Amino acid sequence: MSDGNIKKLVILGGGTAGWMTASLMAKVLGKVIDITLVESDRIGTVGVGEATIPPIINFNQALGLNEREFLQATNGSIKLGIQFENWFKKGESYMHAFGNIGKNFPFCDFHHFWRKSRLNGDTSSLWDYSLNYQAAIHNKFAPLAQIKGTNLPGLSYAYHFDAGLYAKFLRRYSESKGVRRIEGVVKEVKIRPENGFVDGLLLEDGQEISGDLFADCTGMAALLIEKALGVGYEEWSQWLPCDRAMAVPCAATKPIVPYTRSIAHEAGWRWRIPLQHRTGNGMVYSSHHWSDDQAHEALLGNLDGEHLAEPKVIPFRTGRRRESWCKNVVSIGLSSGFLEPLESTSIHLIQSAATRLIKSFPHCGIKPHEVKEFNRQSQVEIERIRDFIILHYKANQRRDSEFWRECENMTVPDSLRDKMELFRSSGKVFRDYDDLFAEAAWQQVMIGQGIVPEDHHPLVDSLSEEQMSDLMASLKTLIGGTVAGLPDHEQFLSRGE
Ligand code: FAD
Repeated sequence: MSDGNIKKLVILGGGTAGWMTASLMAKVLGKVIDITLVESDRIGTVGVGEATIPPIINFNQALGLNEREFLQATNGSIKLGIQFENWFKKGESYMHAFGNIGKNFPFCDFHHFWRKSRLNGDTSSLWDYSLNYQAAIHNKFAPLAQIKGTNLPGLSYAYHFDAGLYAKFLRRYSESKGVRRIEGVVKEVKIRPENGFVDGLLLEDGQEISGDLFADCTGMAALLIEKALGVGYEEWSQWLPCDRAMAVPCAATKPIVPYTRSIAHEAGWRWRIPLQHRTGNGMVYSSHHWSDDQAHEALLGNLDGEHLAEPKVIPFRTGRRRESWCKNVVSIGLSSGFLEPLESTSIHLIQSAATRLIKSFPHCGIKPHEVKEFNRQSQVEIERIRDFIILHYKANQRRDSEFWRECENMTVPDSLRDKMELFRSSGKVFRDYDDLFAEAAWQQVMIGQGIVPEDHHPLVDSLSEEQMSDLMASLKTLIGGTVAGLPDHEQFLSRGE
């Protein structure tokens, strides 16, 4: 980097983070910078991460991927939301369904109308007015931008996929766009004595890889950002008590449902992610409340198909890297922080960090104010998601185990406490700038976790009882009719074109 210009990007790590970063960089900046990716088959990847959220569609579209080819290559399926079972109370469930609920009104959200309608005697649940929820439980899907004959939005969706196959798919894509892949284990990171920047990587086989800018995609090893540059980590275990996961695939069962299941247990929760060729399962738990043997028993005892491998234990530390970008190293993926997969946000954080890096690409040299702004945005983004995840633990009424009682009694960040109190007292919830999750997501999780608004917006009272009843009935009819006209999810997946 003698003239300060950034011409050579080195990505260290070939997991989901490494190949997502490589492919987006190659697509957008491949003609102006040289991109090298170093990875080690011997070390391997974390090997989990199968559920995503709707912005992944934008990522794939930005690359120009064909959806059908992508679904075939990754054994993918459609995800319309996450079903939370036993979270609020044992035996009760709700869904965080993507997309809108009911109909959007300019000054207040639909759930205010729903609340008033309930006061009028309507017994419908909020989810009776969610197109995504109704399609999910009836196992239906087709890409649908709008509900026919209306200006109401159609289905909002994401994917479940085999993350290993996705990385391979993106590797082929990146290499076709000029990314150079080098196989090898990093033995030493060379630092420039004059400024502490990373100068290059020395591999075990003696190869030296130099670069101007380095993306640390080494997962929890955080080889560059932490081990070489010493950037610390802010832990959030006081709010997010789980610190271990155990993952195991099992044989696929029919039907392949278009949603993720998250089932709460005594000391954590279990995921179930349906793919075309298998079902992904895992237990996320607190080692202070459960031994590995207890998690193992609860995980294997609840599989709905034969297990296809031995369960793999993954210890983790929830939190964030204090500076995502330091000197000439930008951490992307697990090296930059970790939030448990409850709302499937880690792959999104990779997408978002790679996009942010492109937007603030330091082609004329690294400027402190640019780095500072990148770090500020990264911090705000992950803290908002953190709050959303904490909400699921805090607002529970299980009380059947020490784990859940401790969650209910914990003191949450002020930002979350204020949001919960505002919603409880008024039904209002506002999306902060940079908040990944929209109002409808917060509303569903708050109501699903038992935070029922004590009031509604006065606008709602301007409708007579009859007008209200007509509005609700027409929405239900519209949603029911739309869902009935959709093909089965598996029919959509097996379509050849
Ligand atoms: P890794 O996959 O660990 O890759 C690290 C790379 O660095 C590898 O290629 C490795 O070979 C390389 N490397 C490391 N050290 C060296 C070295 N010395 N020399 C050379 N190469 C090296 N996210 C979601 O969005 N949805 C989910 O459903 C989801 N579920 C998850 C469940 C669990 C239990 C966990 C732990 C995570 C989950 N995630 C999920 C997160 C997701 O798995 C990760 O965000 C994603 O896989 C990115 O990982 P990564 O690429 O940062 O790291």
